[in-house]
Amino acid sequence: MKSHKLPKLEVEYAWGYDAIVHAAKKQRFSTRDMAFGRSFATKFRKEIKASLNKFLAIAEKESSLKWRQSHIKCYVVHGIDFDIEDPLTIKIIHSGRIKVAVETLYHELIHLLIEQNKDFIRNNNYIARKYRKEPLDVKDHIFDQAVMWKVYNKFFGPKKTQHVIASYRNFPEHMRAWRIIKKEGPERIIEAYLR
Ligand SMILES: [Zn+2]
Repeated sequence: MKSHKLPKLEVEYAWGYDAIVHAAKKQRFSTRDMAFGRSFATKFRKEIKASLNKFLAIAEKESSLKWRQSHIKCYVVHGIDFDIEDPLTIKIIHSGRIKVAVETLYHELIHLLIEQNKDFIRNNNYIARKYRKEPLDVKDHIFDQAVMWKVYNKFFGPKKTQHVIASYRNFPEHMRAWRIIKKEGPERIIEAYLR
């Protein structure tokens, strides 16, 4: 049997995408932004190089889902209000905080992995029913963050995972989802959605 290949992730700065975001926010777009975007992409590429494949492999194994694309493009863009899983888009931030952008990439990659496997996910289950009255952003993150919890535990180790979870403190919907996952247990949630 041919072994399953991990997708190749390509980090790219696309000036047209960045220019559209600037225009939408009525901000001036300059060659300085282009230069900064390109240099951020280079730094980001370097930052993820050593650990990305390990992350992609653990994500598959721990979730029992499969990457279904051979290539994933990851765009970096200035000033977006939220990061996006498809087309995978990460906000350019100060390069001193590049590790935050890396964790954001992992977060969005888990969303993307789940999106690629949506035909195998049972959205009508007892966990989803139990929390059906939660705000959309909480509901949308119960299963996905349960997968993150499990993958992060293997990838970062339990101590760092709890540190990462705590770093969501300014995002109440995410924190609510983490609390639900802690209460129900990530394994039980994943089982409910994948059975
Ligand atoms: Zn998310």
